[in-house]
Amino acid sequence: MTEQDESERVVARVLGPEGPEVSCETCFEELDRYVELELAGVDADAAIPGLRAHLEGCPACHDDHESLLSLVASDALPAE
Ligand SMILES: [Zn+2]
Repeated sequence: MTEQDESERVVARVLGPEGPEVSCETCFEELDRYVELELAGVDADAAIPGLRAHLEGCPACHDDHESLLSLVASDALPAE
């Protein structure tokens, strides 16, 4: 194994989320539904397995989730 192979493997490991089942693309597609389930009081983690793990392991999707959650929540509640 060359040194370059080794460093590529390390990069792949660092970039890859913990759960291999949900990619950023899938996360992006399911995020709307996930947030709606969360706000409806449904167990969103059970409905979309792996997504929560992805959000916890992926800062970009974590941020997306936070902003979508606050957006939808402020939309659902009447302004004070
Ligand atoms: Zn992601």
